[in-house]
Amino acid sequence: MPSLLLRWRFFVILALSMLVLLWPLHGLVQAYYFDGLQRKNSQTLDLFAANLTGTLKQYEILPQILGRLPEVHNALLNPQRSETLEAANHLLNRMQQQTRADVVYLLDTRGTAIAASNWQHERSFVGHNFSFRPYFFEAMAQRTGTFFGLGNISLKRGYYFGNAVYVDETVVGVLVVKVDLDFTESLWGNTPERLMVTDNNGVAILSSEPGWLFRASRALTDGELAQIAEHQPYASREPERLELSGSQWLRFDKQLEKTGWTVSVLVPRQELVVQVQTAMAVVTASMLALLLVLGLLMQRRRHYLERIEMDASARTELEGRVQQRTLDLQTLNQRLRDEVLERENTRQALVRTQDELVQAGKLSALGVMSASISHELNQPLAAIRSYADNARIFLQQQRLPEVAGNLVLITTLTERMASIIEHLRAFARRDPQASEHVALQPAIEDALALLASRSHGLQLDIVRDIPDATLWVEAGETRLRQVLGNLLSNALDALGERQAPRTLSLSTRFVDGWVCLQIRDNGPGFSREALQQAREPFFTTKTSARGLGLGLAICDAVVKSLGGRLEFANNPDGGACVELYLKPIVSSVNLEAREDIV
Ligand code: ADP
Repeated sequence: MPSLLLRWRFFVILALSMLVLLWPLHGLVQAYYFDGLQRKNSQTLDLFAANLTGTLKQYEILPQILGRLPEVHNALLNPQRSETLEAANHLLNRMQQQTRADVVYLLDTRGTAIAASNWQHERSFVGHNFSFRPYFFEAMAQRTGTFFGLGNISLKRGYYFGNAVYVDETVVGVLVVKVDLDFTESLWGNTPERLMVTDNNGVAILSSEPGWLFRASRALTDGELAQIAEHQPYASREPERLELSGSQWLRFDKQLEKTGWTVSVLVPRQELVVQVQTAMAVVTASMLALLLVLGLLMQRRRHYLERIEMDASARTELEGRVQQRTLDLQTLNQRLRDEVLERENTRQALVRTQDELVQAGKLSALGVMSASISHELNQPLAAIRSYADNARIFLQQQRLPEVAGNLVLITTLTERMASIIEHLRAFARRDPQASEHVALQPAIEDALALLASRSHGLQLDIVRDIPDATLWVEAGETRLRQVLGNLLSNALDALGERQAPRTLSLSTRFVDGWVCLQIRDNGPGFSREALQQAREPFFTTKTSARGLGLGLAICDAVVKSLGGRLEFANNPDGGACVELYLKPIVSSVNLEAREDIV
């Protein structure tokens, strides 16, 4: 906004200074064109004056020459003889025609015309007296008489030359030659400039403007008026005033020394005004164009500077942004590094936790096993003891068949104990890290066998929907049994919380390339918190005597280490549903269902 104001102010100042410049320039242009006009018209004036003077000079000598001719002398000496006058008339007529003078005539000493070239004309000068004319008395005084005026007989303008005619050095008369100067006006042509020749009185005697003729271009003095009345050069004795306003006409004058006349060329001032105005219009237009070009150049320069400035600021901004971005990236990098470090720490912590969990799981399993051992082995042991005690009594009584029966029962019980111990050995076996091919069904059966006494106590329906063909999965023998033991133990715990009928359903199916073992019970199902936190170590809803909250956390860690996953949900008709996903070894098995009641 301020730059716009500045620009406008600059242009106003520039325009004003141009206006100030235009004023003197106008004066200069006017002076230039006036000079031109003056030069041109002074040449015109010189030419015209030379022409006029030359014409007059041509006739100046004529009266003297003609005055020496015998016919002239004879006429003046014998004016009463008609043949001498006739001879003079013929001579003057001939001379007039040869010299192209207007009239040539001869005056006697009283000023009366005795012979004239126009003696035959209607307005013949012969017989008229011209003694009032200056050319007569000047000639009589033996000087060359000159006069310009309107002929009082012919009523025609003319320049008169008069010279005395001498006979034996005596003045016997005057010979006059009248010159017609009308042609000088017609020479001028039809131009806007006007020609004017004024005589000593300032009266226009020749002019290309007919209306100006015989009008006084200046005020006349009384003496001049008296002389005019006496010599009668003009039609009127008091010539009208001719007002030539300086605002309308430009006047260029030249004096003719010999005649005392002034030749003037009058140029309509409008001519100069038009020239000056045209020149000023051109100058103004040029200046405006210059101003415009200057303005455009300035604008272009400003745009250029603005663009440079914009480029520079854009570059600075870009550099700033690049710097900021670099800084951001560095910060981000650092954050990423920190995050990677943190994740690595977390991962290591997780691995440690997993190891600890596995260890804890092992301990927990050991606890469960020791409880199971004591529970499972105590019963047959107690039975064996009682069978043995009874057998000793039967032996004392010599009841041998009963003794044999008791021994068979003892053997059966020891087999069962051996079987339990076999299972415990499987659990106690060192866990190999590499995955093995494990048969799923025996693992399930082993886990169920371990929990058999609890199952019996709960009067449980175990529904199996498992194919006969062995399902081989990627797992570890001990780890899989450990997981299954925990999951089944949880189901039994849950079923223990409700009244009969109690059902435990086991089914297998293939889902998206996985073997899925589904363990469902019709217990109370997972609580809302348990569904979210069951995998967390030490999360339990059971009393401290019954649960540590490690079972599912261990299972989750172990299953993950086997490359599988665990999913917890509730059945739509109540009870928990736990799904164990494991990688199959052979996928094309017969998944035919089988139902057992234990
Ligand atoms: P614990 O058995 O020692 O409580 P677990 O990690 O095995 O620890 O189980 C965590 C919790 O998950 C249990 O306390 C219980 O609330 C819930 N839970 C596990 N299995 C079942 C199930 N079959 N039915 C209902 N709740 C279950």
